[in-house]
Amino acid sequence: MLVEEKWQDILLAVKTEYELSNIVYNSWIKPLEIFQIDDNKLYVLVPPEQIALNYISKKYLTPLKIVIFEMTGVDYDVEFILPEDAKKLKPKPAKSIAMQDDAAPKENYDLNPNYTFDTFVVGSNNKLAHTISLVVAEEAANPEKKFNPLFLWGGVGLGKTHLMHSIAHHILANHPELKIQYVTSEAFTNEVIDAIRNGSNSQINAIRDKYRNVDVLLIDDIQFIIGKDRTQEEFFNTFNALYNSGKQIVISSDKPPKEMTTLEERFRSRFQWGCMADIGSPDYETRMAILRKKKEMDDFELDDEIIKYIATNIKSNIRELEGALNRLMAFSRLTHVDLTIDTAKEQLESIINPDLHKEVTPQLIIEIVAEHFQKTPEQLISKSRSSDIVRPRQIAMYLCKNMTGASLASIGEVLGGRDHSTIIHGIEKIDTEYNNKEATRSLIETIRKKINPN
Ligand code: ADP
Ligand code: MG
Repeated sequence: MLVEEKWQDILLAVKTEYELSNIVYNSWIKPLEIFQIDDNKLYVLVPPEQIALNYISKKYLTPLKIVIFEMTGVDYDVEFILPEDAKKLKPKPAKSIAMQDDAAPKENYDLNPNYTFDTFVVGSNNKLAHTISLVVAEEAANPEKKFNPLFLWGGVGLGKTHLMHSIAHHILANHPELKIQYVTSEAFTNEVIDAIRNGSNSQINAIRDKYRNVDVLLIDDIQFIIGKDRTQEEFFNTFNALYNSGKQIVISSDKPPKEMTTLEERFRSRFQWGCMADIGSPDYETRMAILRKKKEMDDFELDDEIIKYIATNIKSNIRELEGALNRLMAFSRLTHVDLTIDTAKEQLESIINPDLHKEVTPQLIIEIVAEHFQKTPEQLISKSRSSDIVRPRQIAMYLCKNMTGASLASIGEVLGGRDHSTIIHGIEKIDTEYNNKEATRSLIETIRKKINPN
């Protein structure tokens, strides 16, 4: 039992005795959990990636064993395992896991320990969003009206979740008296659907309890609940309850409220009561800074030439930027081969090249436009004349005309066999709006970026 009770102290001791930086500690050591103890064998869960497992085994197995021995007097045979392997072990969970499961307010800890303000690189693309997030986190006890709700929006992989977790961590650390709740709209939806399916009032009440009795609610990727009737209703009631009692709400989305076409007006205006901040694609300097920061955090040696190569070739998505770095890191740690620019290029080929050569076809455009409006490609191609389909369809026509060499006839063909004049009409309609309406222009540009991020 001893080792379980002392686990947190053991981990901290590894940090102090081996002089690990906060970053290294937070990324590799702190997440370690005891999964099971069989006599002398101690199974320790690592964050769920093979790379992490290999890395931690190589660097921290011995330090951990030494500290465990120092603090418990037992020479455990420590084995690191991934969650998927854990499932194969005979179930005999260690107490610490069982305790964590039902005791601690787990919802607050659904946060990535690495997503903090400290690790967030500020660039021209996210400066405003970063500043306001920090203010909101600082002032969470008494939210300023003008920042409530805070609506963060931007494309995939640009740092919305990172910022939201940063706000949450900051509040947990600096205002422990405040109750916060972070949830993805997917998880929120599942909770609501589950309660409805069970026809359980007490479950619904529990959800209300959970989300309405907080000082700060952060809901990530709100676009997923828009259009889901009951869930969206539940969320807006929650929103109203919190807003009316002056609690801070932070929302993230892949697009601004004015472009959420299926969002009802009453909600759209509500989202815009407070403050909206967008996160754009990082410029070259910011990409370099992010790569350098990450390389440092991971304690990884990498030539500036290679970093420049990545920053030059991956432009639109920070997750991909990190993916490239992780690939190189894994490669060099597993093979012990020195990384030259040529090996790096070879390793990154599959990450960098598909984007460069991704061909923009009418099919691709239809898929992306459909997804943007939360429709299916079939709906766009269908005979439906309902306005929430017609408009995306016309936007698809417009983009096909402007982004591919396809003829009007072939655009008509892929869009469900529509005739020439229908296509011209659609293109002209969007073209006029594009030239006259700021909202349409920004909508089109958002979608265009999704189609062709370079
Ligand atoms: P989103 O939620 O917008 O899709 P994430 O917040 O998940 O994007 O970010 C994707 C990845 O990029 C994460 O690993 C995150 O830590 C990293 N990232 C994004 N923005 C930054 C930044 N400004 N500085 C450092 N890392 C960043
Ligand atoms: Mg996200």
